[in-house]
Amino acid sequence: MKDSSPSDTNPLNWYDVPLFFARPGKALYYVAVQTQDRPGALATVIGVLQRESFNLIHVSMSEIGDGYAVGHLYGEGNAPGISTALEERLRASGIVRNVRVEEGRDGLLIGRALPLRLRDPRLRATAITSQYLISTLDTLREEMGSGGATLVYRQGLDLGRNAWTRHAALLGGMENVRKHFGYLLEGLALTGYGRPTLLDIDPKEGTAHVRFSESIECMGRELSNPYSQFFRGYFAGTFSAVFDVEMSCVETKCSAVGAEACEFEITRKEAARAGAPS
Ligand SMILES: [Zn+2]
Repeated sequence: MKDSSPSDTNPLNWYDVPLFFARPGKALYYVAVQTQDRPGALATVIGVLQRESFNLIHVSMSEIGDGYAVGHLYGEGNAPGISTALEERLRASGIVRNVRVEEGRDGLLIGRALPLRLRDPRLRATAITSQYLISTLDTLREEMGSGGATLVYRQGLDLGRNAWTRHAALLGGMENVRKHFGYLLEGLALTGYGRPTLLDIDPKEGTAHVRFSESIECMGRELSNPYSQFFRGYFAGTFSAVFDVEMSCVETKCSAVGAEACEFEITRKEAARAGAPS
C-alpha cells in the first residue's frame, strides 16, 4: 500500500467507536444514562460524575425520540466497586430517567453501546475492517475473472440503489434527497468507503461527475487500468435511484493508475449505449 488515508492527520475528523479501553491498574466504568433531551442535561450528568472525581475518556449521545436522549460515558472512577454509588448519585440528580453503571475488569472496559443502530430500525451497522471487505471482493475477482468483476459491480449497484431508496424514505421522498444531494453524498465518508464530492450534476441531461478520494477499493494499488467495480456500481445504483432511470457509470480517473483521486462519469444507460462503450 503506497499511502494511508490523508484525513487521518486531522483529529477533527476522528470519530472513535469504542470497542474497548485498556488502562492497566485503573478502575474503569461505563455509564449509560437516559435523560430528558434538553440543553444542559449532559452537562449536569458530567457535573455529577466530576464531583465523584470521574475522569471522562469517551462520550457519545443519541436522541431517541419522545423527548429523551441517551448518553454513553466511559471513564476512570476514583476507586473500584463504586458502580452503585455512581448510580445513586445520578438518580439523585433528578435529571436522569434511567441509569446503568458497569465496572470493567482490571483496567479493561468493553464498549456497551453496540451494535450500532442506524436510523432505519430494520438495519444495524456491522463494523468490519476495510481490509476484510476489500480482500473479499478481490478474492471474487481473482477466482472468477470477469464474472467476478461483474458480480462485484452488481453488489455495488444494489447497495447504492437500496441505500438511496432508504435515504429517500427517511427524508420524506426523493425530492428532498435531490435538494441537497451533493451534501448528502459527502455523508458517505462516514461509512469509511471513501470521500465523494459531486463535481457537477445535470438532471435534465441525466449526467453527473463524482470525484471519489481515498476509495478503499483503489487506494494503495498501482495498476495500468482503472480498478473500481464496487463503487462504479455503487454510483450507478445511487444515480439510478436519484434520477429514477437506469444509469451507467464509467471510472474516468483512478488512484490505482496514478490519479490523485478516482473520478466517475455517470450517464443515462441509453446514452451510454449510443456513445462510447463502457
Ligand atoms: Zn479507482
